[in-house]
Amino acid sequence: MSQAKEELRWALIGASDIAKTRMIEAINSQPNSRVAAVFSSNAERAKAYAAENKIPKPYDSLKTLLEDPEIDIVYISTTNDLHCEQALAAAAAGKHILCEKPLALSLTDAREILNAAQTAKLVLGTNHHLRNAVTHRTLRKLVKEGAIGKPLAARVYHAVYLPPRLQGWRLSRPEAGGGVILDITVHDADTLRFVLDSEVEDVIARSATQGLATGGMEDAVMGVMYFQDGVLAQFHDAFTIKHAPTGLEVHGTEGSLFAVNVMTQDPVGRVVLRRDNDETEIKLDPPEDLYVHSIRHFNQAVLTGTQPFATGADGFRSLAIALAALESTQSGHRTAVAK
Ligand code: NDP
Repeated sequence: MSQAKEELRWALIGASDIAKTRMIEAINSQPNSRVAAVFSSNAERAKAYAAENKIPKPYDSLKTLLEDPEIDIVYISTTNDLHCEQALAAAAAGKHILCEKPLALSLTDAREILNAAQTAKLVLGTNHHLRNAVTHRTLRKLVKEGAIGKPLAARVYHAVYLPPRLQGWRLSRPEAGGGVILDITVHDADTLRFVLDSEVEDVIARSATQGLATGGMEDAVMGVMYFQDGVLAQFHDAFTIKHAPTGLEVHGTEGSLFAVNVMTQDPVGRVVLRRDNDETEIKLDPPEDLYVHSIRHFNQAVLTGTQPFATGADGFRSLAIALAALESTQSGHRTAVAK
């Protein structure tokens, strides 16, 4: 049905902050897509959110929304515990799915989503925004071209201060999939896999609770991912760090790449190549909004059969790495990443 259409109608599952601050604008920015409906579990919130964001149809029943024949694609951005059942319902209704990370809370659930989308021949994407950034795409290209020789190590620093408006379920509801590992480490995992074009074999991590998280959850973590080709990648993620920049480095036999201010939602940051003591600023293509890039690729996948920029399988892999990190913080041991 959708393949013949010129305009794709998206529905939001979840009256969320991320949809309001980034995704609605990104979807509506495309000439071939627009947000047509929103579902919230609360009827008043659905109506208020729809009015505030100029969305024509508010729904407080997911079933009714999924029965709406106008809807081609759903964007799921509810709390993490709801992604699986909502994605399965969307797949059963024949809607293409862009799901927020983490795809689910277990690999069994994530596998079920992948299978349901594949069986129904639907496009399934994971909204890992970072790989959409021109900085990360450039890093991947440079690594692939051999600009730094053989990669040996990487370092991600992604420790930020969780904005007060987001200091809710992430810090207080473990059953909703809160905690910094499922929120931020999962993004690091995807970005490192993308930049290095390699898979993680195992993870060792140590977490801490530094004053924001409750309920036994972590709000800070450091660790090491070991990649199949021997690359060691160090990561530091936190909700508690107020004054640090973010970044990603890759160190190889012939050079090092430093990407500064790049673990962020905005199309900013710079990339520097360092060989011996010489530093070269890499000229980047014009930056595009990360979420617009993601939506553009998703629409194209629905219309032409290409792949979303981050697929469902990518969401499965990043979740497997994040869950291994979480398990390692609990056991104190190095943990193999499930295949
Ligand atoms: P929010 O806390 O804004 O929304 C999550 C859910 O909380 C909503 O679906 C909504 O339920 C409920 N909710 C929202 N506002 C209220 C309120 N005022 N009172 C009661 N309930 C409310 O979540 P985020 O936008 O921060 O995150 C949503 C998802 O997106 C998560 O999976 C997260 O991991 C992901 N995310 C991804 C980012 C990315 O860059 N890829 C960035 C930020 C988040 P209902 O729909 O029933 O109204």
